[in-house]
Amino acid sequence: MNLRTEKSNWLDTLPNPRSFPPLEEDLSCDVLIIGGGISGLLAARELMNRGIKPVLVDKRSVAGGSSSANTGLIQYSSDKSLVSCINTFGEEGGVRFYKLCQEGIGQLKAICDKLSLDPEFRLRDSLYYASCPEDVSSLQEEYEALSRFGFPVRYLDEADVASRYSFRKSAALLCQGDAEVNPFRITHALAQSAAENGMRIYELTEIRHHKADDTCIRLYTDRGKCITAQYALFAAGYETQEMKRNANAQIISSYAIATQPLDAFPGWPDRCLIWETARPYLYVRTTVDNRIVAGGMDEATADPEERDRQLPLKKKRLIAEVQKLFPELPPLRAEYGWAAAFGETHDGLPMIGEQLGFPRCYFTMGYGGNGSLYSLIAARINADLIEGKPNPDAALFRIDRPTKTPAMQKN
Ligand SMILES: Cc1cc2nc3c(=O)[nH]c(=O)nc-3n(C[C@H](O)[C@H](O)[C@H](O)COP(=O)(O)OP(=O)(O)OC[C@H]3O[C@@H](n4cnc5c(N)ncnc54)[C@H](O)[C@@H]3O)c2cc1C
Repeated sequence: MNLRTEKSNWLDTLPNPRSFPPLEEDLSCDVLIIGGGISGLLAARELMNRGIKPVLVDKRSVAGGSSSANTGLIQYSSDKSLVSCINTFGEEGGVRFYKLCQEGIGQLKAICDKLSLDPEFRLRDSLYYASCPEDVSSLQEEYEALSRFGFPVRYLDEADVASRYSFRKSAALLCQGDAEVNPFRITHALAQSAAENGMRIYELTEIRHHKADDTCIRLYTDRGKCITAQYALFAAGYETQEMKRNANAQIISSYAIATQPLDAFPGWPDRCLIWETARPYLYVRTTVDNRIVAGGMDEATADPEERDRQLPLKKKRLIAEVQKLFPELPPLRAEYGWAAAFGETHDGLPMIGEQLGFPRCYFTMGYGGNGSLYSLIAARINADLIEGKPNPDAALFRIDRPTKTPAMQKN
């Protein structure tokens, strides 16, 4: 799958990342992880913490997939509102999903604090504004639901927004305790840490097929090597759909830009993360090197040619939208602009765990805008399943859960 076109700003923040050799011999291990993105590396960390010895392979390089296209917003609110999650999954399931994401931010911070390569993790509040006056009532409803279940959130009316920010919006929610990260650096930092702790990583090593029996699973690489493992953990990102298409998943296209570095951010208190109620939504953040990263303008196409044709226009439109929010900023330029495949699910939840027809295999499909947090949730669930321990959250995210057709979904 063609995952990304043109380079994101993150790659230049780590110009010479550590590289790993291709696999040139047969080997055996406890768990083979397929995928060196953030999902595979968070899974590796969790398994190693439990005394399990994984080996990791990637057909590209570490962070060479969607993890380098990621814009690094870490939020407890998902693309699907809490109100909508409660409607779809019931109060227990909907609130649990949001709580897992909220707890995940603290867990990710604890992991980042221990990494020797700085992943540029910063706690940030998120401003979620009403894109039009008609969205104010649903924003109020969301505020009430978030407050009722103890999520840290403030309601800002039109005057509050105008007094703090350089733009006017009818209302907004200020969600506290979210974060930002550099997705390329965190993935490499996790790889570096895992390698230092003895995990073997092989780049340019593709798993082509596999065969499981009662005792083990054998996975075969593009160079004809065989890896024998107790279990396989597929953290292969959106390309998992090429292995087995799931009706709940859809691959679309998304766009992002990074501006030139700026001296100051007038009208943008605390450099909070910003997004909106419209779907698809525009989202904006700043970086440690003082750029603005903005993204959105999703298109419902999985065709990379069609996706890339639109990239020049999308860059211009993203820049124009940011400039409209912050008119006091100097003229903005897109020093970076990229287009990427983006995976989401129709019901709004990631898909994690076992899959019919794939014995000894576990899957992480952290599809959705909060994919990094979903990878963290998946790391725990899959590690429990591999250890044969019950996990109370596994049922919520199981891959074969019943889902409604898209036309029946309530967003
Ligand atoms: C434009 C954009 C913006 C985003 N913004 C955010 C955001 O702000 N916050 C957030 O949390 N998430 C965001 N996401 C989502 C996030 O990028 C993904 O959830 C995350 O990168 C998925 O990581 P992954 O490790 O599962 O996949 P990947 O990073 O794609 O890693 C999978 C790896 O598996 C390898 N692989 C695949 N098949 C094989 C095989 N057969 N053999 C060997 N290796 C294989 C690939 O080469 C790849 O490196 C965004 C995504 C996009 C596209």
